[in-house]
This record gives sequence, structure tokens and C-alpha cells, in this order.
Amino acid sequence: MSELSRAACMTRDLVRCASVTPEEGGALALIENWLRPYGFEVHRPIFSEPDTYDVENLYAEIGEGDQCLLFAGHTDVVPPGDAALWSHPPFSGAVIGGEIWGRGACDMKSGVAAALAAVLDHIDRHGVPKTFRLAFLITGDEEADAINGSVKLLEWAEARGKRFSACVLGEPTNPQRMGEMMKVGRRGSLSGDLVVEGVQGHVAYPHLARNPIDQLVRLMAPLKEPLDSGTDFFPASNLEFTSVDVGNSARNVIPAKAVAKFNIRFNDLWTSKTLEAELRRRLAGVNDPGKFNLVCHPTNAEAFLTQPGPFVELVAGAVEAETGLRPESSTTGGTSDARFIQAYCPVIEFGIVGKTMHKVDERASITEIDILTSIYGRIIDGFLASPAFTTLGA
Ligand SMILES: [Zn+2]
Repeated sequence: MSELSRAACMTRDLVRCASVTPEEGGALALIENWLRPYGFEVHRPIFSEPDTYDVENLYAEIGEGDQCLLFAGHTDVVPPGDAALWSHPPFSGAVIGGEIWGRGACDMKSGVAAALAAVLDHIDRHGVPKTFRLAFLITGDEEADAINGSVKLLEWAEARGKRFSACVLGEPTNPQRMGEMMKVGRRGSLSGDLVVEGVQGHVAYPHLARNPIDQLVRLMAPLKEPLDSGTDFFPASNLEFTSVDVGNSARNVIPAKAVAKFNIRFNDLWTSKTLEAELRRRLAGVNDPGKFNLVCHPTNAEAFLTQPGPFVELVAGAVEAETGLRPESSTTGGTSDARFIQAYCPVIEFGIVGKTMHKVDERASITEIDILTSIYGRIIDGFLASPAFTTLGA
């Protein structure tokens, strides 16, 4: 077997760390050990908040100057589920058939490893940069609550005067083939409950009761009306009901209360606030709505878009040079930590093919990992060579 690349070795070693959120699992310690010998400034802040778990994070940077290219990612992984279902143990990092097997291989230890390898390769060739900085922002809290992770690490970095020009986030973005898709934005997410209070009673005497189901159905209808028709980069916003519940096991009782739960994935025509106001406006227009209560639970996930421009061009060009494919600028999929980073600098997500993420037998193709490392190398070179980036960030 041919010798493994640096990025493949790093992926394997990271996969062997059982870093299910919020366990650090040795993953950040490994990264620190790889970066320190190169002279990186490395911090591993632990963030806390009442009612949630503590999380360890890593921030590292090297070089001098105002311009900074940031590589972001997470080393935490979702639980493997029943390990007996896996072809190879989920934290084995087995290297078989040109793939590295294990939980997190795809999402997204390979992305973190490719970024590390690309940056260290660059320093091996050109030395420590004197006119710009290269930085890593790696969290252990992306897959679960995302409360003590990137959102706080970015605030922590800003408080220390760290400024970023642009960010690459190595989440797996390609549906089938390397080079198909990068993500230049994400939809926002807003969840809510619609609660209707009725009056309980006997089904044979409905005039003595008030059925909250009838009212709930009337209230749900206008919420399902279209929110918009999409934009150049986003599909139409969509409200999806996820549950309708009255908690009633009897056939002869009109229930006292009915609850509908929903989630909205929305584009950049909306914010959580404007969306909630729109829902309230629609509910207010319903005839005989009864007594109801709308409770929205913002998930700190506003929609955002990294506008077309030099950074989008740089990343797309690097992808095309290595894969022959011009990547689609997509905003599909769930939320990611890019929602936090976008408040600080332009961010683009590009990683390997995401087919096995979160699944049994998650694994990463070594060929894809090596291509990704080359793409990141091109992004670093292009970032340094282009005067366009001196106007970004800061
Ligand atoms: Zn991920």
C-alpha cells in the first residue's frame, strides 16, 4: 500500500479520538501537538453556561499582519449508535479500500485534517508568513447544542483583537462527486408552537364545550400559505408542521387544548423577527380564532449569504482547478457554524462528499481528502496573491 498523505494520517488519528459531543476525546490535544512545533499561538478555551455542558475549543494562529485567512471546523461527532452495526469499530480509524472508516471521518475530521495539512504544507514550503496570518477556529460543540462552541469562540477571539478577512469551513458539501457544490449561505431556522385553549366537554354536547381542534385547524391554514417565492440563491421559505397533538385518548371527550408544532427554514428575505411578526399578522386575520398562544423558539440561526465576489471566485476557481468542475453556489442543507462566522467575515463551506455523514459505516475517501488538501492549498496561495483581500474584514 502506498504511504498515506499527511492529511489522511491526520484524519485517521482524529477519528481514533472518541470525541462525541461534548467529549474532547484527545482530538484538540492532537491538533495542538501538530501546530505547536511550527510556532503557532494555540489556545484551548473552555466555555460554560448554566444548564448546558462545558466544551473545550481550540484557536490557533501564526504569522503577522492584518489579513487573516481562517479555517474553521469542529472535531466533535454525533454518537455512533449501535457499534455492532458497523463493519469496522466506529473509532478504529481503519484504513481499508482507500477509505478511512469511523464516526467523524466525513463530518468533519477530514475537513479539519485537510486544512491543517494545507497550512502546514504551505509553511514547509514558504516559511512562517510575515505579511498575513493563518488561523484555525475549531470547536467541540457543533453537533449538539452549539452553545459553548464557535459562537463563543468568535466572541473570545474578537475580544482579543483577532480579525479575519475570510473563512473556509470544511463541512462535507458535495452530494455525490468532489467539486459539485460549495455552500455560500444557509437558510435560517425558526421553530414554534401554536397552542389553542378550548373548553373540554362531552362530544354529545358540543354546544357546552369549545373544541380547540376546530380552532387549531383554522389557525394552521393561513400559516401554510406561501411565505415567498425564493431568491436567486435560495429556495422559497417553507413552514412545515411537525406535530399536532391534543393528548386525548378518549373518543367521547372534546379535548381542552390542542398544540401544533412547526419549523420554518427561511431565506434571506426574512429574519426570525420579521417572520414571527408575519405569523402573528396571519393569525390575527383568522375569523373566530378562539384563545391561542404563539410561542417562537429562535435557534440563533438567521439566514445569510456570502455575496458573489472575489472570495467566492477564489474558492470556485480552486475547486475547478483541482476537480475540473465549477461548483454550484448552494444554500441547501441544515444549519452549520457558518451562521455564526458570517457575522465576522465572508465564509464559504467546501469539504468532501457527504454521503456517509452521521450514518453507520461513516467513512472518507483518501483521494477526496487529498484533493481537498490541494484545493485548500490553492485557496491559501490565491488569498496571498490577490490584492482584493486587503479590503476584506478588519
Ligand atoms: Zn459537521
